[in-house]
Amino acid sequence: MSETFPAYLISKSDSGQVAELKQITLDELMDGDVIVKVEYSTLNYKDGLALTGKAPVVRRFPLVPGIDFAGSVVSSDHPGFKQGDQVVLNGFGVGEVHSGGYAGMARVKGDWLVALPEGFTPRQAMAVGTAGYTAMLCVMALEQHGVTPESGEVLVTGAAGGVGSVAVSILSRLGYQVTASSGRASQTEYLIGLGAHQVIDRGEFSGKVKPLAKERWAAAIDVAGGNTLANLLSQINYGGAVAACGLAESMDLPASVAPFILRGVTLYGIDSVMASIEKRQRAWQRLAKDLDLEQLEKMIVEIPFEELPAAAAAILEGQVRGRALVRIPS
Ligand code: NDP
Repeated sequence: MSETFPAYLISKSDSGQVAELKQITLDELMDGDVIVKVEYSTLNYKDGLALTGKAPVVRRFPLVPGIDFAGSVVSSDHPGFKQGDQVVLNGFGVGEVHSGGYAGMARVKGDWLVALPEGFTPRQAMAVGTAGYTAMLCVMALEQHGVTPESGEVLVTGAAGGVGSVAVSILSRLGYQVTASSGRASQTEYLIGLGAHQVIDRGEFSGKVKPLAKERWAAAIDVAGGNTLANLLSQINYGGAVAACGLAESMDLPASVAPFILRGVTLYGIDSVMASIEKRQRAWQRLAKDLDLEQLEKMIVEIPFEELPAAAAAILEGQVRGRALVRIPS
């Protein structure tokens, strides 16, 4: 097919990796049994790493970045999808080893797609995006552990970011008392607006890690890793749990085993990329039920397609608030 559409294409040469905005054709996409007209994508932390080349997120070249997208099926050889179906995709290596959402069209495996849940438009689904769906996976892990609003206060770190914002909003809607930890005092009003009962400075978790500290939280959702995760583990109440999904601070975990063996604390690892389709469907159904769409609107920052490279640098510096939505031109 010779029809062209706009796309970012990351290529690699001896001088390094470069992302360019081009017009491409379907022939330049990778194999798959479903072609989707991409309507919306988002800018996630991982996309920031891919577009800037600051970490080896992209492992096949040339590749269209963008780890998630929503749109409508143009053609399908997959039994689960037909022309006109609205779909959403997160992860499965898309935007890393398979061309992704920053293009007018995507060709992917139907096995990776989730039918857009009723009640969501493609725009809203991408306002949720990988970050919001990951926040829901974290909430589900804590619920499965047995954490309830009666258990006590729940801490959310990196609260003004994408995962954090959605986590604060969902937990508060479910009746939890949520403490939001943020490095940006300027975002206090925003976080209270999303339902946080209080906002604390993330500096509280940056000090030297004690094996055990005063018990403060029934549970936590952590996007930071590093000292933050180690410190908050030492503050979890007896029998409590932490859902860890990120490394915004660091990949390291300078913790001791004390919270695990003396307080029975559980650390859940959350991965959104290879989660099963069944788990994804459950998460999206829960999002349709438990996420306040008016609050979701408050989290949206729209990024023009042409400005993605600059926004990629900003998200890595922690300067993007909430959910960064990208409308994909055709
Ligand atoms: P964002 O960039 O939107 O948010 C990250 C937030 O972390 C920032 O807004 C900031 O919040 C906080 N932060 C930044 N730097 C530091 C630091 N040095 N120490 C402590 N906190 C910091 O990213 P996302 O919300 O999209 O993603 C968050 C993390 O989760 C990333 O590491 C990402 O890679 C990971 N992730 C993992 C997934 C998985 O499947 N496991 C899926 C999606 C995301 P504030 O200003 O409020 O302090």
